[in-house]
Amino acid sequence: MLVSLAQATYVVAAVLFVLSLAGLSRQESARRGNVLGMVGMALALLATVVLAVDVSERSPLVTLVLIALVFAIGATVGTWRARTVEMTQMPELIALLHSFVGLAAVLVGFNSYLTSEPDVVHQIEVFLGVFIGAITFTGSIVAFLKLSARMASAPLVLPHRHLLNLAAVVVSLALMVVFVVTDGLVPLAVMTVVALALGWHLVAAIGGGDMPVVVSMLNSYSGWAAAAAGLMLSNDLLIITGALVGSSGAILSWIMCRAMNRSFVSVILGGFGAEGGTVASAGGPQGEHRETHAPDVAELLADARSVVIVPGYGMAVAKAQYPVADLVQRLRARGVQVRFGVHPVAGRLPGHMNVLLAEARVPYDIVLEMDEINDDLAETDVVLVIGANDVVNPSALEDPGSPIAGMPVLEVWKAAQVVVFKRSMATGYAGVQNPLFFRENTAMLFGDAKERVEQIVAALAARSPSGVG
Ligand code: NDP
Repeated sequence: MLVSLAQATYVVAAVLFVLSLAGLSRQESARRGNVLGMVGMALALLATVVLAVDVSERSPLVTLVLIALVFAIGATVGTWRARTVEMTQMPELIALLHSFVGLAAVLVGFNSYLTSEPDVVHQIEVFLGVFIGAITFTGSIVAFLKLSARMASAPLVLPHRHLLNLAAVVVSLALMVVFVVTDGLVPLAVMTVVALALGWHLVAAIGGGDMPVVVSMLNSYSGWAAAAAGLMLSNDLLIITGALVGSSGAILSWIMCRAMNRSFVSVILGGFGAEGGTVASAGGPQGEHRETHAPDVAELLADARSVVIVPGYGMAVAKAQYPVADLVQRLRARGVQVRFGVHPVAGRLPGHMNVLLAEARVPYDIVLEMDEINDDLAETDVVLVIGANDVVNPSALEDPGSPIAGMPVLEVWKAAQVVVFKRSMATGYAGVQNPLFFRENTAMLFGDAKERVEQIVAALAARSPSGVG
């Protein structure tokens, strides 16, 4: 009775996961999507415990105590990390979590091999599960190391790297045949080592600018690894959930590739920007830049009719979204048209800027995507680039030799005036110099973005102490 109830709960959880994904597709319904996902996961865990107790050869009490112990450790570490992680460290955390899924698939694979009778279909499931899991495991660790700057973000370019990858796949296929015929541990173990090396190499060969796609690609891999684990364990919900994660990650990777004008295959094969001797370089200064100060920017904004704000990673670092929301409110109260232009890969994870702006209660309807705002920039009086760099770099469009050539960017230089908020003339994530800073209509406002925006808000308030503007 309890077991069939658990099976039915799996179906309910699967439906909740689908509804959760549907909810997450729009900002307005994202909160509901998250709640549905959380309820689905709680039900899935409960049902899994019931089923685990049912199949266990140990006494139910021992099984429950063991599960409770694992839950307690996982929940403590998970809650602590989720509460302490900075929004800017989210992609690293996600990459690390993907590595756990990969490792779990490898362990489930070996466990399943050691505890089951040989059967061709099951052997292939085990082999593929361990293969995908091992690639996901080391690939995610490299992504974590690169995103947290513990490893250089430049692509690792080994001689004949594509041949090396191909050789790893061919050797693994050959080992699969040996494994199916002999059912031996050795081919499985050797393939695991090969797949671990392949995962490491695949991601190490991908440059920093393509990291967002890598994170969502690893998200997809981790889904397929989970689905493979579901097949090995004959767990339908794990198969469904894995397939949902696997396919949504693949779709997101494809959308991001389109947004960055990269071909998915070239990202996966890695080393973009290092082909033909072009290496991402910091580059030297490219001319004279003009500096401005907060009171002057306040003056400029007070006289503007239309303002576009382009946020980037620096806004997240400075936690400037709150004073920015305040600034927006004041300008709108003065009758200035204010909108945001968000690049699909601004910040360090997809949707990063949207989350920050929603957190600061900026109305959704003034937050526009790059494609929605680019055509309006030429008619804009002032663009405030707050902590963004690569996503407003004109060399992506104008310099075919640039490591970010071909990436669509927000064409902010077309506006009448551009103010760039940053602390120095340092380059952005891709390590490329930005000619925008040296344009005639660009002024640099140096310093921490939060402090500078607060100063502008104060200057505007001083102009009209009544509170309007
Ligand atoms: P960038 O990383 O290009 O630039 C951020 C800028 O913010 C820097 O130039 C920095 O300049 C400035 N900055 C940092 N801290 C502060 C501060 N406290 N106050 C003011 N300014 C600050 O950011 P973008 O958002 O333009 O571009 C994102 C980049 O990250 C792209 O290359 C993208 O491909 C990559 N990426 C994106 C991911 C995603 O999914 N969105 C994931 C991984 C990478 P200074 O040091 O002088 O202050």
